[in-house]
Amino acid sequence: KEQTAKEYVQSVYETILNRNQGEREFFQSVKEILDSLIPVIEANPHYMQHSILERITEPERVVYFRVPWTDDNGKPQVNRGFRVQFNSALGPYKGGLRFHPSVNASIIKFLGFEQIFKNSLTGQPIGGGKGGSDFDPKGKSEGEVMRFTQSFMTELYRYIGPYMDVPAGDIGVGAREIGYMFGQYKRIKSGNEAGVLTGKGLLYGGSLARKEATGYGCVYFVNEMLQSKELSFQDRTVVVSGSGNVSIYAIEKAQQLGAHVVACSDSNGYIYDPKGIDLALVKQLKEVERKRISDYVLSHPDAVYTPGCENIWSIPCEIALPCATQNEIDEKSAELLVKNGVIAIGEGANMPSTLDAIDIFLNNGVLFGPAKAANAGGVAVSSLEMSQNSMRLSWSFEEVDTKLHDIMRLIYNNSVAAAEKYGYPGNLVVGANIAGFVRVADAMIEQGVV
Ligand code: GLU
Repeated sequence: KEQTAKEYVQSVYETILNRNQGEREFFQSVKEILDSLIPVIEANPHYMQHSILERITEPERVVYFRVPWTDDNGKPQVNRGFRVQFNSALGPYKGGLRFHPSVNASIIKFLGFEQIFKNSLTGQPIGGGKGGSDFDPKGKSEGEVMRFTQSFMTELYRYIGPYMDVPAGDIGVGAREIGYMFGQYKRIKSGNEAGVLTGKGLLYGGSLARKEATGYGCVYFVNEMLQSKELSFQDRTVVVSGSGNVSIYAIEKAQQLGAHVVACSDSNGYIYDPKGIDLALVKQLKEVERKRISDYVLSHPDAVYTPGCENIWSIPCEIALPCATQNEIDEKSAELLVKNGVIAIGEGANMPSTLDAIDIFLNNGVLFGPAKAANAGGVAVSSLEMSQNSMRLSWSFEEVDTKLHDIMRLIYNNSVAAAEKYGYPGNLVVGANIAGFVRVADAMIEQGVV
């Protein structure tokens, strides 16, 4: 008897569970994707014959390494560094580096797995990868961050390159860290390979609009969803979690489109400002002074600061943009958002909603923009940065922003079309997963058993 698509997916899960014991986040991301691929495998059983799911769920390569550095007291410290090179069917491995104490193999593998499909959705020639360290930048001095980051690159450099693997930022890695890493890579390689990292500073090969890209892209994507129902951001109440690079530029674009953004957060707590978030102050606090979001209320006594992050989703809003971290919206928060009348969700962070939360949104007719589609603008502009580096020129802000906008529209249209084609009209989770998968799977088949 021939195996059905469902039985096939089930058998792949069993292998993954056995091989990656205890890797909860990795399994969660695999489950979300594989479940939604059942209809595409039913319609195209040759994917089964080519063992595509067994191959696509196993990283091409994972490296982990010691990162020794010396703290300000002269004491040697050790962190662990990771790079997962998940899939190169479409191009060089591409994906960010995350510095956060929660980083482990499961987190990096889930992020790397998501990145394969996200990068494919952008239509750009980039494979999927991710890396990082369990180093905690919080409370570290400038010197400590530099020494750690240089040490991290002293090991990472041997695995990366403009045609091999091109890292960028993620949580805890911004322009400062990319600058230190670029400087160290250049010293080691004794040559200037601009395309080895993206998210670089504008003075040494960075792209205009890269900083804004993830947040802007997320809002462009949500705007497409809204427009399909003849709705818009105008006068809508919006809650955005986080106050890092994604969040800040999601707030900026939402405000430009006339939205009323009333809350944002950091890992310690959230602020609620019924008058609307003062974005210039958030930028000053987070981008310039590297302070906590709680300081916002010192300048705006009408705003309220609440320690802890979970309850940010109890603030009534029509549009919610989770831009902080994975699993920040659980079942309970999803129910609250629905009860309070949310109409659209745009996932700016990677995997911010649990599987149960996603079901609640979809079952209640909420417009749901899944992470790998909604936050793909960042990596899309990273790819445009690589193009500019190859050509040794730089495009204007408007040119990059227009290309970003076009890419977000393309991702939206392709996701809508795939969902419809495979019998899940309006379900962008299924649509994005299938549209991302098909390109990678077909490229893998064309390249033989590798
Ligand atoms: N870390 C971002 C992401 O999750 C950007 C990756 C990149 O630009 O390579 O997609």
